[in-house]
Amino acid sequence: MAVSPLIVPPTSTLQNGRAVSSPLKNIPSNIASAQASSNGTPVATQVVPNATAAAQSTSLDLAEQLNEEEKRKYAKGKKLGEGTYANVYLGFLRSDPNQLVAIKKIKIQKEFTDGMAPDAVREIKHLQELSHPNIITLHSVFSSKDQNLNLVLEYLPRGDLEMLIRDTENIRYGAADIKAWMGMLTRAIWFCHENFVLHRDIKPNNLLIAADGEVKLADFGLARSFSDPYKPMTATVITRWYRPPELLLGARHYSGAVDIWSVGLVLAELVIRTPYIAGESDVNQTELICQAVGTPTEDNWPGVTKLAGYAAVKEGIPLRGRDHYMSLFGTLGVEGVDLLMKTLSLDPKKRITAREMLKHDWWHKDPRPTRKQDLPKKSGGQAKLTEDLKRRPGMVDDDRGSKVARKLDFGAAK
Ligand code: AMP
Repeated sequence: MAVSPLIVPPTSTLQNGRAVSSPLKNIPSNIASAQASSNGTPVATQVVPNATAAAQSTSLDLAEQLNEEEKRKYAKGKKLGEGTYANVYLGFLRSDPNQLVAIKKIKIQKEFTDGMAPDAVREIKHLQELSHPNIITLHSVFSSKDQNLNLVLEYLPRGDLEMLIRDTENIRYGAADIKAWMGMLTRAIWFCHENFVLHRDIKPNNLLIAADGEVKLADFGLARSFSDPYKPMTATVITRWYRPPELLLGARHYSGAVDIWSVGLVLAELVIRTPYIAGESDVNQTELICQAVGTPTEDNWPGVTKLAGYAAVKEGIPLRGRDHYMSLFGTLGVEGVDLLMKTLSLDPKKRITAREMLKHDWWHKDPRPTRKQDLPKKSGGQAKLTEDLKRRPGMVDDDRGSKVARKLDFGAAK
């Protein structure tokens, strides 16, 4: 899957297959490892210092040369948007200006002495490995002046799912559209988990829409691999409103179930067109989960009382039953509600997996999912909706706050 960044493909056209071209000379060795293992250079057991220095300077020159070549392939245009750690620009391939790309220029983060923002490192590492129609394609990486990293990404001109959800005045959609969008999201997350990657920031704002209506999972800045079940991981990941109870209670060992909870909340939000569990603080988020789903106890979640944050869990609210979910999400039908309830299981061990989700009856029941070319589109052509539209009424700064928190707290995410 991963291709050596030093093998520069003949990119006169953009390829959808994974052939990320990049000199990557500034990327830490754990990411650029393919470079060492696949460039065919025999490893010397005894090296003469001068020869090493000469080889290093030759390879540096080569890396610089390749970087220049890669950079020259693209022209950068207007700014498309700004994220926590990057500005995103529209770009195109000089050899074929019809081929548009998004160039994500990583902001210099002085707090990281080696100059590499961990979000960027994660994004490159995982996107290089994951090639799937519902996951954004990373075409290339190059560094520009001042050692700024630039990620050349597939251009996704139709905004994101959050814009569609919030634009209640102009965008109408129904159960068949929700099923189509959820199918694409579920396939994306299934593919991540099959490849032992946790996304850890699934939310409507990170589901970008291609010109043909295909939904693509983007922003792998908090992703990590989970192949070692004994290695503790940080609990402070996933935007609060989409964060599962095990993380809010401080679990350091977790699985793909954390993403599934977020997927369930995206499904709920698609139906009610507002975030379903929107806490104002982490404590409030846990309280709201108890109200919406039920209080975790040893009965419904064996072992939960041993989690560090459990002491703060208050009164016992019984688990919500099917009737409660039917009253709120009945437009999904009985099977849709069943799937939703299985994604919102408090006990992560009992939560449905992405693979099981794909086998659920809901997909085969009427209505059939809408064809991607017939899905509702955002109004106003390719213009970006204002930032205000992205916020929930009455909670103006929460999402922005969580982005700042993410920058502050999650920088050291392991
Ligand atoms: P991000 O840093 O990934 O959150 O991106 C910031 C903003 O840039 C997003 O909210 C989008 O408006 C825009 N953007 C990011 N990636 C793309 C893309 N591949 N195609 C088009 N617009 C994008």
